[in-house]
Amino acid sequence: MGKDIPLGKIAGIRLGVDVTVFLAVMYYTVVLATRGFPAWSEGHSTTAYWVAAFCGSMLLYLSLLAHEIGHALVARDEGIGVHSMALNLLGGVTRMESSPTTPGAEFRVSVVGPIASASCGIVLIGLAQLLPDSGLSALAGTVLSWAGGLNLFLAALNMIPASPLDGGKVLSAAIWKATGNQITAHLWSGGAGVAVGASLTYWGFKEFRSPTGRSELAIGALIVGIFIAASALQQLRSTPILRAMEGRLVSQAMAANPPTAPGWTTIDEFLRSAHLEPQHQAYPVISANGEVEGLLTAAAIRAVPPQQWMLLPARELAYPLDRVLVVRPNDSLLTALQKLDGAEVSFALVVAEDGRVVGTLDPTALERIVHEYETARLASV
Ligand SMILES: [Zn+2]
Repeated sequence: MGKDIPLGKIAGIRLGVDVTVFLAVMYYTVVLATRGFPAWSEGHSTTAYWVAAFCGSMLLYLSLLAHEIGHALVARDEGIGVHSMALNLLGGVTRMESSPTTPGAEFRVSVVGPIASASCGIVLIGLAQLLPDSGLSALAGTVLSWAGGLNLFLAALNMIPASPLDGGKVLSAAIWKATGNQITAHLWSGGAGVAVGASLTYWGFKEFRSPTGRSELAIGALIVGIFIAASALQQLRSTPILRAMEGRLVSQAMAANPPTAPGWTTIDEFLRSAHLEPQHQAYPVISANGEVEGLLTAAAIRAVPPQQWMLLPARELAYPLDRVLVVRPNDSLLTALQKLDGAEVSFALVVAEDGRVVGTLDPTALERIVHEYETARLASV
């Protein structure tokens, strides 16, 4: 699927739609106008059916949006930054800047989606009941009941305990809470995802080949089944990495004792006076009274033409502290890297309890730890 088309912001969160959404709205409109609504509510004009069908399709996507807004707002409440929301062919996605770091947060962020869908379903069906059962009101009632019923179905489908569905994340949170182990939770919810995805794909394939099969339902099951199985496999494949990270602390993977840059020195002076080692790709910037005020990265230095290095103070090129992730040496490495994934600056400052900067952490720590783990495992075979 291609790039999202931006549609502005909701509650400060960017919203986009995939181009497939327009195709899906067109498809639903045609099917509902020509087959669905004429069968469920008879005796209206062709124009009325087309308007009703378009409104129904839009209502469906608006309630999918309500589902994603639920995820986004609860995530933000849990202190997880939300990058954007997007609607696509299969519903929607909320892109968060990091994963939830406790089972409770994972549970709340996931469960709210199906709750939002179920609430939409109940409200829409309730509204349909209020409308008189005659004339155009009857057709409007049919539209509301259809959208409401579909929302209840989506709430139930999403609660199937298999990754990457919301129910899979709820299952993962429950296992994580019960065992205290996020990796066990990942394995089980991923395994359930593969099983459910494969079963659905198999059923879709059988239905498609059967002479009495409903081909639309079969194609839907095939698409959703393959999507679930592929995403769940991806989750299982990432588990060895998680295992390598188990029990590790930030202090074991950080680049310790990075050279510091006084805020007022120029980049040129800093590069000439500091002793730079290849493992250090980020340098804390220190104020006159010794406090950290930002982080200068090697990448930022390289992005500036060398002839400007003589004039540019380190402070001006550094990222200010409020844009940099700060972690403690005794924090879990997995949690720290989850927070770093999607953060604006791809380096974290490692600051001890007494406020001293003791290191920097960057995503290459992941590769190093996995490499170490694999080497140790091979050595022990
Ligand atoms: Zn969801």
